[in-house]
Amino acid sequence: MKEIIVLGGGESGVGAALLAQAKGLPVFLSDAGSLSATYREELQAAGIAFEEGGHTATRILEAAEIVKSPGIPDTVPLLQQARQRGIGVIGEIEFAGRYTQAPCICITGSNGKTTTTLLTHHLLASAGLKAGLAGNIGQSFARQVLAGRHEVYVLEISSFMLDTMYAFRAHIAVLLNITPDHLDRYAYDFGNYVASKFRILQNMGPADVFITWPESPAIGQELARREPLLPEFLAISLQKAYPEGACLLNGMLQAAANGRHFSLPQSQLPLAGTHNALNTMAALLVGLSMGLSPEELHAGLQSFRNAPHRLEEVGRINGIRFINDSKATNVDSVYYALGSFTEPLVLIMGGVDKGNDYSQIDEQVRRQVRVLICLGKDNEKLKKHFSGRVPVLLETQDVRQAVQLALAHARPGQAVLLSPACASFDLFKNYEDRGNQFRDAVEQERKGMK
Ligand code: ADP
Repeated sequence: MKEIIVLGGGESGVGAALLAQAKGLPVFLSDAGSLSATYREELQAAGIAFEEGGHTATRILEAAEIVKSPGIPDTVPLLQQARQRGIGVIGEIEFAGRYTQAPCICITGSNGKTTTTLLTHHLLASAGLKAGLAGNIGQSFARQVLAGRHEVYVLEISSFMLDTMYAFRAHIAVLLNITPDHLDRYAYDFGNYVASKFRILQNMGPADVFITWPESPAIGQELARREPLLPEFLAISLQKAYPEGACLLNGMLQAAANGRHFSLPQSQLPLAGTHNALNTMAALLVGLSMGLSPEELHAGLQSFRNAPHRLEEVGRINGIRFINDSKATNVDSVYYALGSFTEPLVLIMGGVDKGNDYSQIDEQVRRQVRVLICLGKDNEKLKKHFSGRVPVLLETQDVRQAVQLALAHARPGQAVLLSPACASFDLFKNYEDRGNQFRDAVEQERKGMK
């Protein structure tokens, strides 16, 4: 029997290999880099063959099917050769989806995936459903399917994952928004990226539910092109009340679906900002579609805490709030972060620029930002764009110094916001490391003030 070849030995690859093995399929895992000790031991314990530090092309090109990690671009020669030989290349979600009957709630979009996935999962779990949480978060879907303990899955789905999903069917799909991101992986063509996001709809039928934000221009245009849609359509909106769907109008959030109705003033939501109201509306519509009562949704919202690094308040010094939004790695998320504040801001931005167009936030920066601190190895593009547009423009390569500069320039009642618009790997390991170092630096300054 030909082998299932798993390319990439991270959480999703190891999960897929374990699941394949458990289903009696011959499987071989290959990673161009090195595996973590935990995964190596796990594969050994399960008796799964693997290699590290390179791919044996001859073995891989004999595969029955290849399950590839979302981190490996489609264009690598090995995958192209495999495709030429007619070998199917799929992702872990597609693979694991074959082995579960449980309904899958798939959440995608350029921004807000993690927040919405966590909130949706929390609402379902706190109402007593045995809900699995997977995709881009935590344990892999495959590993959880193997454990078989869940009656429903909430999956955070990136566009890279969608690109390797073919027969997979989402029972409820959420498409939050589409703005340019990751264009380096889509031949610098926004249309390709939009098409990738809309793959979430493939295979959905009339019994399924599609929740989206038609006011996101790219989504509105694509919907107009595709109408009528097969699944039931529920909109989230900042402009109008749909008979079925959710909206935020005059400070009041309303959601109606499945014969149920939920409402709450925006001021009582657990997450600040318009963007989070949209995320919350999507999660509430999933809850209603899954049969949760308004009381269960109220209780779930009350007990929700967001993940760190997303508009996370990390301390107050001299009446100045410090906010860690290190997860904001593109301009659109900074746009929404800025919109969550009414007070004047010291903004810390910078890092590895993925082709950003900063003019999108010019207006808000002009209105709200008193001081801009560039925190990156190369700050030239930021400095060039914002010089003359903010009263004070500073730069540093050190997070502790960024906090000290912010403290020296901010006044009581103002806030210091780390919302970088950029990736982090010039000065940090990843966005978590950047956020943690920022939090530690704030804490050190706070102690020093005492
Ligand atoms: P993702 O998983 O899609 O990267 P997160 O929930 O981790 O999304 O949020 C990433 C960043 O995007 C955060 O900085 C947050 O402030 C911002 N953000 C969250 N939701 C939205 C939204 N609906 N629209 C725009 N920006 C958002």
